[in-house]
Amino acid sequence: MLATIDLRGRLTGGADDAVIDYRTVVPRAAVDVEAALGVVRGVCDDVAARGEAALRDYSERFDRVVPASFRVPEEALAAAVDGLADDLRAAFEESIARRRQVCAAELGPVAVDVELAPGARVTQRMVPIERVGLYVPGGLAPLASSVIMNVVPAQVAGCRSIAVASPPQREFGGLPHPSILAVCRLLGIDEVYAVGGAQAVAMFAYGVPGLCEPVSMVTGPGNIYVVAAKRLLRGIVSIDSEAGPTEIMVLADDTADPALVAADLVSQSEHDPLAAAVLVTDSPALADRVQEALPGQVAATKHSERITTSMSGRQSAVVLVDDLEQGLAVVNAYATEHLEIQTADAAAVAARVTNAGAVFVGRYSPVSLGDYTAGSTHVLPTGGCACHSSGLNVKSFLKAMHVVDYSREALAAVARHVEVFAEAEDLPAHGYAVTARFLDAPELGV
Ligand code: NAD
Repeated sequence: MLATIDLRGRLTGGADDAVIDYRTVVPRAAVDVEAALGVVRGVCDDVAARGEAALRDYSERFDRVVPASFRVPEEALAAAVDGLADDLRAAFEESIARRRQVCAAELGPVAVDVELAPGARVTQRMVPIERVGLYVPGGLAPLASSVIMNVVPAQVAGCRSIAVASPPQREFGGLPHPSILAVCRLLGIDEVYAVGGAQAVAMFAYGVPGLCEPVSMVTGPGNIYVVAAKRLLRGIVSIDSEAGPTEIMVLADDTADPALVAADLVSQSEHDPLAAAVLVTDSPALADRVQEALPGQVAATKHSERITTSMSGRQSAVVLVDDLEQGLAVVNAYATEHLEIQTADAAAVAARVTNAGAVFVGRYSPVSLGDYTAGSTHVLPTGGCACHSSGLNVKSFLKAMHVVDYSREALAAVARHVEVFAEAEDLPAHGYAVTARFLDAPELGV
């Protein structure tokens, strides 16, 4: 079911034709962010120019429904919680509690305070971003869990104004899915918009008069259009990472259970036809058994068509390697969103991973645990961005602000250094701004 990419016997660093560029071993999906930018640019410009009228047009075109009000009424949020089944409410509350516990620890030491010399103090204050816009996907599946993954770290960071947007659903009269509204309500969020896709990111970035004030940061996962809008509007707003169509890579040896490996690959292909499912293994026998297990598991599950498209796309494959050493080279070069380690001594192998959005260690840590209840984030960088970006966390919502507080004596002690720097950079006014403070005190030697 998955294409095979065989790297065995092809050592790196040998003759030119034997050198492997591990970054390109597994291609990304054929439809990429760059391709979606063309569509998204027009949508974003239009929302900036025409505001709510543009939102109406794009809701009609992409979501096939126009909400009576883009701002979700308070009664709809209340009704959503009232309608929650007890077991689903318990699942939401457990996920919230676990994510909150980890977020509180992520906050860490709040301030850095250094006295470099008597009277020479630099402190660093972590200041929450005041107003943020959080995107919750709702195209192919209503990701209520993404409300938790966005809102909890923003709240723990101390953001004062939090708005959520999620696509309007035809079957719910143009409101976002009730489970999404219920989690918003459980978390005390009352500014919720029934707006999806690139138009939601544009609404947050530019603001829409009479509807939504602009935000300073947009976070959250989404499909290729959401990611393209975040890339396009970065600069007007800050973004977290490009958290696009899901990727799972499983690094496994012959100790892995093929049925579980197959189940985990299927679980993430379920997200999007553009999702990537990749197995990297040094065991051809395991690869064969996973391939044998896939068709039955895919056929038996609800979204088999979407999964089949994802798995037959160029972005999904089995990669055969000589050994785990070469497997780790593939893993670190690919920089996947989710990485499972299903090997002997999985924790030791995991410790050698340098590029991945999140790592799931061993048989009892499947990615879907992280999607909902582990306490970790599920908003994670895709498309190779894990080599430079982090998953959404409390610090994503904080700005580091240095506060410089030097006394007269402390400034005098380094004044000459500043003047010399300024001369070297041909910015004499910089130097004079220091000198000017000591014109009446030649004894200080400035
Ligand atoms: P979505 O809410 O991201 O996208 C739906 C919106 O896309 C619609 O409201 C519509 O406005 C827009 N859209 C649809 N077709 C369009 C078109 N042809 N042109 C322009 N806009 C269009 O929901 P989704 O589609 O279900 O995607 C959710 C995505 O989020 C999946 O790809 C999933 O893998 C991903 N995800 C990523 C992470 C992560 O952290 N990386 C986490 C969870 C989910």
